[in-house]
Amino acid sequence: MQILVTGGAGFIGSHLCERLLAEGHDVVCVDNFFTGDKENIRHLLANPRFELLRHDVTLPLFVEVDQIYNLACPASPVHYQFDPVQTTKTSVHGAINMLGLAKRLKARVLQASTSEVYGDAQIHPQPESYWGNVNPIGPRSCYDEGKRCAETLFFDYHRQCGVEIKVVRIFNTYGPRMSVNDGRVVSNFIVQALRGGDVTVFGDGSQSRSFQYVDDLVEGLRLMMATPAEFTGPVNIGNPGEFTMLELAETVLRLTGSKSKLVFRPLPEDDPKQRRPDISLARARLGGWEPRVPLEEGLVRTIAYFREKLSS
Ligand code: NAD
Ligand code: UDP
Repeated sequence: MQILVTGGAGFIGSHLCERLLAEGHDVVCVDNFFTGDKENIRHLLANPRFELLRHDVTLPLFVEVDQIYNLACPASPVHYQFDPVQTTKTSVHGAINMLGLAKRLKARVLQASTSEVYGDAQIHPQPESYWGNVNPIGPRSCYDEGKRCAETLFFDYHRQCGVEIKVVRIFNTYGPRMSVNDGRVVSNFIVQALRGGDVTVFGDGSQSRSFQYVDDLVEGLRLMMATPAEFTGPVNIGNPGEFTMLELAETVLRLTGSKSKLVFRPLPEDDPKQRRPDISLARARLGGWEPRVPLEEGLVRTIAYFREKLSS
């Protein structure tokens, strides 16, 4: 198949492109390189089945493909808050453009949605049936509401135009190829620990997240794309192991052997207090899918990546 991956030069996108090529597909990777990096896909450029297009998904795109994975969007709070108007445009106009393309091509389209649609959740763990608790006017809203509106568009194109959609709510995912400057907690703590600088814990570190290793997510995305047409999702994909940021910091210090000190910084506005996916639906519908990489194992692999990256 010919498969389009938007945001394909990003952290998750590059792993997905690699996996799809390994399965024998042709991959068109679209990216505007806002947070993506050519280094993430340099090893794929020589493959004749891989094509790279520098393009912004807020603008219409004319290509011929069989399937679309729509991942284009900055995902780290630091980056999505840098130009919040562009973040909303990327989610909303990007969704409209990819859905329009899917409609013309009669192609299946998968949306990389997010656990952020649940906001500062009042139900724990979060099932897909929970409608969320999102501030519509805060600093995180460009991302949260942009992704919520994209979900709305996906379901309206599905109901109104018959587009085959797949909506995946991704929970915090980490792994090799996160940018050194990504700003999300796993890469921040690892980079700070390896450099011997202060490890910045926001708030008192009691807030929790559930961290998924990137390989488990890529497997879930592929399996979701292959489900029968009537299964649209939304489906949570994440690892239900839940950790506080203090636990994460201490684990990173132990695994890196770093002497870095923990320093406490103010908790960002609207930072969700706790998050854990209910993955019963994914387990039931995604043909045996299960998160396989425990946090410590994933951290060891990610630390090895950053060690190498920082020394080169
Ligand atoms: P990332 O920032 O590494 O990747 C995003 C990619 O999209 C980058 O390559 C960037 O250059 C590209 N991009 C941004 N705006 C674009 C535009 N207007 N046109 C074309 N390309 C554009 O982040 P990631 O973690 O790989 O996230 C990928 C997707 O998964 C995002 O949609 C994100 O919202 C979603 N997601 C990620 C996580 C996570 O924990 N990693 C969690 C939930 C959802
Ligand atoms: N965080 C932290 N130190 C950092 C970066 C983030 O303590 O250097 C915290 C942040 O406040 C949040 C959690 O880690 O509670 C996860 O943040 P991230 O930006 O990775 O993802 P999100 O908040 O979008 O889940």
